[in-house]
Amino acid sequence: MLTVYTRHSSKCPKKDNPAWRRCRCWKWITGSIPGRPGSMRVSAKTRSWEQAESLARKYELAAVGGEEVKEARTLPTLKEAVNGYLSDAKARGLASATIQKLEHIFKKQLLSFADQHRIVFLRDVNVRNMTEWRSTWSDKPLARKKKFERVVGFFWFCVRHGWIKDNPTATMGRVVAKHVPTDYFPAHEYRRIISATYRLGEDAERSWAPEKRGIRIRALTELMRWSGLRIRDAATLECSRLEENKLLLYQAKTGIPVFVPLPPHVADLLRSIPPGLKPNPNYFFWSGNGLPKTYVANWQRAYRRLFNVADLRKPDGTPKRCHCHMFRDTFAVEMLLSGVPIDQVSILLGHASVRVTEKHYSPWVRARQDQLEKSVQSAWELVTPRLPAAI
Ligand SMILES: [Zn+2]
Repeated sequence: MLTVYTRHSSKCPKKDNPAWRRCRCWKWITGSIPGRPGSMRVSAKTRSWEQAESLARKYELAAVGGEEVKEARTLPTLKEAVNGYLSDAKARGLASATIQKLEHIFKKQLLSFADQHRIVFLRDVNVRNMTEWRSTWSDKPLARKKKFERVVGFFWFCVRHGWIKDNPTATMGRVVAKHVPTDYFPAHEYRRIISATYRLGEDAERSWAPEKRGIRIRALTELMRWSGLRIRDAATLECSRLEENKLLLYQAKTGIPVFVPLPPHVADLLRSIPPGLKPNPNYFFWSGNGLPKTYVANWQRAYRRLFNVADLRKPDGTPKRCHCHMFRDTFAVEMLLSGVPIDQVSILLGHASVRVTEKHYSPWVRARQDQLEKSVQSAWELVTPRLPAAI
């Protein structure tokens, strides 16, 4: 067993007590390792007791794995690699939602798997244990695919830093996710949802005028449907972003503001939310306090109730799966189907490149192309005189 002790300087008031942890004198490691002859005594090269302790554990673990104990100091542990990766992600300025996802995957899931399987050093990670880890994932196909890409990326990061020679996940098969085309609400379904908003929360709002019942969720729904905003941006929208009937969507990287015109009835609806239902006069819905994430979760619960009331069905009679994101998709799909060019739709959605839009909405771009071809063909029928049959 290895233990830490302090080599005090001659001026340290605690110089007679080598077990004293809290001074800034150098920490050393001494003791013997089970199964190894003799004893060792080395400087931990740190003034921190905690760091010296963790180095001592590293020496012991290296010995268990058959490593040269002296080398252990430079062997990165999986935990150190994860911490290095996450602090690099923060330094690169990734969105906080992305950082949270990375922390969940690596700190919570990977490190606890490693803990259970006694994987300490980065070099103990291999195809076998990573395949085993992946088989425990319960994510849906698309999330699973993205997660695996992140895991592969993490090990490339370790390779680039020279912590390992090869990427243990490089030879693992890719995760296949069938691309599920975006579903949206055609006009008749959208009307059912809007009419359901009037029947929502009837108990609490019974005394109100009928047009005021469910007004907040109706306004939010119309806003998402006609602006394409994501629920988080829509729910926390500042009133100042609505200028007459034009909504400021975002400021493009070039500094040019991107506006979308709203149908007049939607702009009026937003402005007619009674002050008593607005916790903060600067926002249409939000109080301006607390985490937007929590606030969005509340709305998502409200939408589950709304979709239950609307009770949309597929042609075979089974319930249609509904999600708030489909209002944004409805905005995009209806525009594509009515002939708005995809690069313009892409700008309105705030996508980084038109390729993102193409990937997401390709079936609807194709549907539009089919529509066009049919119109062109029927135009031929009208203008082309029938040729006499070949002789
Ligand atoms: Zn000291």
